[in-house]
Amino acid sequence: MSWSADTDAVLRAEWAAGTTTLQIAILLGVTKNAVVGRVNRLRLTPRENPVHRADPLRTRLPRPPAATTPPVPAPRAATTGCCRYPLWPHRARPPQPALFCDAPSLPGRSWCARHFDVVHLRPTAGAA
Ligand SMILES: [Zn+2]
Repeated sequence: MSWSADTDAVLRAEWAAGTTTLQIAILLGVTKNAVVGRVNRLRLTPRENPVHRADPLRTRLPRPPAATTPPVPAPRAATTGCCRYPLWPHRARPPQPALFCDAPSLPGRSWCARHFDVVHLRPTAGAA
């Protein structure tokens, strides 16, 4: 389609009246993209993009606070009287530095009471 002075006048009037590009396109018998292109070439006042219009339902909610990770116990040597239960998955390479449970160990043991039960199987009744 070639744009004439008449179609440009209609376009300017409808654009100023707030008619949508689709409605103008139907009115002029052209595509919506042709209307948008012509509006840009005529340097008509741009409109607010309806897609980007502020929508209270689409406003961003404040980001929740980051999940806090539990404090990692400090690495402990074997002679400190603290549990030596490793804090990494079984058969996995230990992190550097290797971290162990920080709870006080049982007297004469390398484990705290909780981890002593984890690493030592107690004989069950009937097992020989
Ligand atoms: Zn422990």
